[in-house]
Amino acid sequence: MQIIEALDFTDIGTFIRSFILLFLIVFLRYIFISGAYHWVFLVIYRKRLRQRILSEQNPKGIQIKRELLLSAYSAIIFSLMGMLLLILRQKGYTQIYSDINDYPLWYIPVSILLYLVLHDAYYYWLHRWMHKSKVIRHFHMEHHKSVDTTVFTSFSFHPVESFLQALIIPLLLLIIPMCVIAIMITLTLMTISAIINHAGVEIYPSKKNSSLFRKYIIGATHHDYHHRNSKKHFGLYFTFWDRLMKTEL
Ligand SMILES: [Zn+2]
Ligand SMILES: [Zn+2]
Repeated sequence: MQIIEALDFTDIGTFIRSFILLFLIVFLRYIFISGAYHWVFLVIYRKRLRQRILSEQNPKGIQIKRELLLSAYSAIIFSLMGMLLLILRQKGYTQIYSDINDYPLWYIPVSILLYLVLHDAYYYWLHRWMHKSKVIRHFHMEHHKSVDTTVFTSFSFHPVESFLQALIIPLLLLIIPMCVIAIMITLTLMTISAIINHAGVEIYPSKKNSSLFRKYIIGATHHDYHHRNSKKHFGLYFTFWDRLMKTEL
């Protein structure tokens, strides 16, 4: 962290090199996690999970290419937002702390949960707004072109939607004190949650075994329904807002 803090981002060369490195980390990490998830749940365990696969149609290569291209744009936008975050951090505007002892250890999971709850609320209302007829046509339809979703649908958005989704990261870190480790865990949870919701296979416990979990945590079945019926299921991590606003089936 100290090495990053010592960098001079007003130097254009340093800025571009840092941005390219950040882009490669964001994009390759996403490809690796998505690819690994697909390989484990839809190749190795495909037969065992046959009853839990939400669509038997194999998405066409053209869909995958479109999703990967849009995901690359999203990675550019999220990396630019990451650069903004680094600059804000250098200037002392964020609540990010790097010494784990600055706050009690119990605060790490609390800060992650707080971030996820606030992010979930932001996303729900942003998503509701993006489904207004004029907005969806311009900015959200790219994501909904994928009806039979894949792991790569999880980051495939119109650049304006990507910008609005990425904006919440620096905004929340201006107000929530978070350790660097907690931020890394949160970003990984964000990526994995999006992949789980779009992979087209339900991996969460079945209703009989764990109805509470399925009731409150959004998984593939919940979000798959949104891609097939866009008038319901707008939440991101938790079903709270969908239940409160009666947009859950
Ligand atoms: Zn989606
Ligand atoms: Zn939508």
